[in-house]
Amino acid sequence: MEDISHILLSLGEEDFNSLGAVVPPLVQTANFSYKSVAAMRHALENEHTQPLYTRGLNPTTELLATKFAALEGTEKAMVTASGSAAVAMAVLAVVEKGSHIVSVGKPYSWTQKLFSQYLPKFGIETTYVDGTDPSAFDQALQHNTALIYLETPNSFTFELQDLERISALAKRKGIHTIVDNSYCTGLYQKPADFGIDTVVHSATKHYSGHSDVVAGVICSSKQHLDKMFKAEWMTLGAIPSPFTSWLLLKSLRTLEVRMERSINTTKRLVEFLSNHPRIRKIHWPGHPSHAQYSLAQRQMKSATGVFSVEIDTDSDVEAIKFVESLKKFRLAVSWGGYESLIYPAVVAHHGAYTADQLPVGLCRISIGLESADVLIRDIENSLKVF
Ligand SMILES: *Cc1c(COP(=O)(O)O)cnc(C)c1O
Repeated sequence: MEDISHILLSLGEEDFNSLGAVVPPLVQTANFSYKSVAAMRHALENEHTQPLYTRGLNPTTELLATKFAALEGTEKAMVTASGSAAVAMAVLAVVEKGSHIVSVGKPYSWTQKLFSQYLPKFGIETTYVDGTDPSAFDQALQHNTALIYLETPNSFTFELQDLERISALAKRKGIHTIVDNSYCTGLYQKPADFGIDTVVHSATKHYSGHSDVVAGVICSSKQHLDKMFKAEWMTLGAIPSPFTSWLLLKSLRTLEVRMERSINTTKRLVEFLSNHPRIRKIHWPGHPSHAQYSLAQRQMKSATGVFSVEIDTDSDVEAIKFVESLKKFRLAVSWGGYESLIYPAVVAHHGAYTADQLPVGLCRISIGLESADVLIRDIENSLKVF
């Protein structure tokens, strides 16, 4: 049996320090010194495995990376300054001038900007496909396709992609696959088990869980990441501060209990909302009404505490009234923190999404650690105001 608590509470910490400190100390240093030229030479020649300079390897960040690799079931992981940095580095590591990318439609907004606005500078073009149809990926392939990019589920409308089928297709054609696994975390979905090459995360969300840091993770084979180290990693330098890594180590201690509580509260809320006359639709892969429920059951251990609801209105004014009358849900971007949040389409329409992608009454909800009864009562009251 996989021992998650061992990963979160102990893995990699046994020999971390000689003082016997229970919590591994924060190694807040930019550089490391040596007693001999031989030792310094050795560190320089092994910069990806030895502390030399914190842009390359820092022990606090490396301990965190060890845990992420174990959670995800990959050989290795690297922690980045943000989720976006993880996405960009993972993508840059597999494309060349003139490459083609096949991406799921509606990936995370800045991922989409990378594909649609940034990479075309290098002659790299992206085709977006309907991720719910596995054959759409096959049909979009070109002779120069270097990458299939997935995000399952996405964190606004929660469509899934079939990891097993798409990775089998990519393997047949020798195409690299990347999945953004931020929504599930390594606890509830392990894309590497389905043959996916690289897994990326925004650690800002569930992994942090405290809305106090921005960070990301790239998980892949040792060979792939060692190659990335000498290229994208050291040149772009998008590393977290050791203190950010230390805070994330602290966050991981409670990952399992936080996730379980938020998922249980979500089940209660989804149950309540799915029977409410002012709710048109719920988008949560853990509910039988989800169009891809059986796929979700197959490839995810659980859906997590983020979902969308469509309230019964076509009016901007009424949707605004609803969200502004909530007392326990803060109006904010991001998700996965201790605090419950709401992000309505009436705001998203001013950002990355068009009006025909998201109905006016759609609201993305992130469930924090408050009591389920308190959150249900708050939504129940607000559903009466429009
Ligand atoms: C937030 C997010 C990102 C970007 O992560 P940052 O840590 O904000 O840079 C990438 N993918 C998904 C699914 C996200 O929600």
